[in-house]
Amino acid sequence: MKVRELETDPLFNSGRGSALTEKGTVEMEASIMDGTKRRCGAVSGLTTVKNPVSLARLVMDKSPHSYLAFEGAEKFARQQGVEVVDNEYFITPDNVGMLKLAKEANTILFDYRIPTSGFETCGQGVESPMKMNGLPMSIYAPETVGCAVVDREGRCAAATSTGGLMNKMIGRIGDSPLIGAGTYASDICGVSCTGEGEAIIRGTLAREVSAVMEYKGLGLQEAVDFVIKHRLDEGYAGLIAVSNKGEVAYGFNCNGMFRGCASEDGFMEVGIWE
Ligand code: ASP
Repeated sequence: MKVRELETDPLFNSGRGSALTEKGTVEMEASIMDGTKRRCGAVSGLTTVKNPVSLARLVMDKSPHSYLAFEGAEKFARQQGVEVVDNEYFITPDNVGMLKLAKEANTILFDYRIPTSGFETCGQGVESPMKMNGLPMSIYAPETVGCAVVDREGRCAAATSTGGLMNKMIGRIGDSPLIGAGTYASDICGVSCTGEGEAIIRGTLAREVSAVMEYKGLGLQEAVDFVIKHRLDEGYAGLIAVSNKGEVAYGFNCNGMFRGCASEDGFMEVGIWE
């Protein structure tokens, strides 16, 4: 998976370029799930681990647990010898500026509420392209990263990595490391979510896609549409998904979602809007 590369690129909200806490620090989280045996690993509250998704993978492969957080996760990182850096490495000038904006507006910013001129924003009656609920929003807010993959045998996996929400409280844990919320994979599909973590957690969004496929017999895109429509109350989010048949689907209930798709035969596609 390429989640590591996205973590290393400061343009995304994960690893270097992560959203900042209310204190201007970085607390990262990530998870990974292998759908074949429903194996999973997750980490939260990382402050020095260069590639959180790799540590999530080590939790899955090399620890007796599914989820490690804060000091315990940092200690495990050192035991496993993963690359660590100072917390400042993750902090970019763009994000320092965005945190200032969030503090001035007394709000928490996340990429999914990006109102853009000419686009309806989730039907929320946005007054001006740069405001949401009367608060200014940045159009440059970076995005959480995630990946859903299927191999030629139909084995699905998914991973998600994030810095969370800009101006979040210290210790806040979002959906991205929570198996079933931000990430899920089964023998049927793999799903990775992004958007307002609290809404994704309430909707157990990623697991729900697999559940409606399993229990209602829906196809992948139908399942994604169903979940976006019925499981996202009062929150904006999106997800990418693959099925064991090699299908690819996505859905979101807001302006757009940065996404891409690539297959072994060379097909590549990227998109932002519907
Ligand atoms: N879902 C992430 C969180 O709430 C944020 C995002 O996707 O941008 O932590």
